[in-house]
Amino acid sequence: MWLLLRAQASPEGILETLRDLSVQARAHRLGTRWAIEVHANGHLPEALLRYAEIEKVLSDETPYPLVRGWEGNINLKGWERGQSLLWIAGPCSAESKAQVLRLAGELKAIGIHVLRGGAFKARTSPYSFQGHGEAAIDWLLEARALTGLPLCVEVVSERHLGLYADIDILQVGARNMDDYWLLKEIGTTRRPVLLKRNPQATIEEWLLAAEYLLLHGTPWVLLTERGIRTFDRTLRYTLDVGAIPVVQTRTRLPVIADPSHAAGNWRYVEALALGAVGAGSEGLIVEVHPEPLQARSDPAQQLTPEQFARLYERANALYSARSGHFSQPVQP
Ligand code: PEP
Ligand code: MN
Repeated sequence: MWLLLRAQASPEGILETLRDLSVQARAHRLGTRWAIEVHANGHLPEALLRYAEIEKVLSDETPYPLVRGWEGNINLKGWERGQSLLWIAGPCSAESKAQVLRLAGELKAIGIHVLRGGAFKARTSPYSFQGHGEAAIDWLLEARALTGLPLCVEVVSERHLGLYADIDILQVGARNMDDYWLLKEIGTTRRPVLLKRNPQATIEEWLLAAEYLLLHGTPWVLLTERGIRTFDRTLRYTLDVGAIPVVQTRTRLPVIADPSHAAGNWRYVEALALGAVGAGSEGLIVEVHPEPLQARSDPAQQLTPEQFARLYERANALYSARSGHFSQPVQP
């Protein structure tokens, strides 16, 4: 079992008590606070009950106790959970200031809640466009200043985190879902995270990645199903819509879907988006580009603002018909 200590609390007194009881224990520094790993055969030693320093006891009964027990709130300006779909949209890559500002205005007018845009891209080929980096972050921040839309931007390396100080939601991409040391560093920033599922990951591995984030300080995680790898390669990936209701029986953290990367082709984005909403998704992250065929990354799958506006209407209508958020009891 693990004991999560309150911020500022020292582990010394607890470690001493455990030493006196001959219970093996080890303290771990988690960003700004301490946790203690205790080997006591699953029983909390009674002598520890008096320690106000202990904020939470994480039992060994579930592999992801913080994910399973999460009861927090999602603080996102303009979105009330359970009242509407959460909409995140924007270009795969932020390509120029003009592109980002124009698109941000159009998407805001359609009604999105969060603007996405890639700055440092994780590309399969080292010869592909790698993103405009710091300049892209500046353009996105300017779009936020103009529209008030919060930003969601992917972090590919802890070395870039200094540039993300003002980014509202840090995105962990599919390729980095199991980069555990990156997750720990992102956790210590205490910023919300959009966590894509790695296409090779089981649901349990995905939830364990979210556990890393929560343990290290992330307040909430948007679990994002973006397609898994199966034997069929007609679409880019296979959107695992079944994972959505399953995750909802494991945690109250929101689960959303990314139909763009699953489809890999704009023609199928709407069908996958509606499938995900029908299965209980609480939101969608969709790639939109003013001129998709000119895009420097993912040209085949991005929607035009007009196509996105149509998807927005249809998915919202389906969400209303579905009568809001599916509330499932969380099970072990
Ligand atoms: C992205 O959202 O731009 C992206 C690269 O997605 P994924 O990590 O799901 O491939
Ligand atoms: Mn993309």
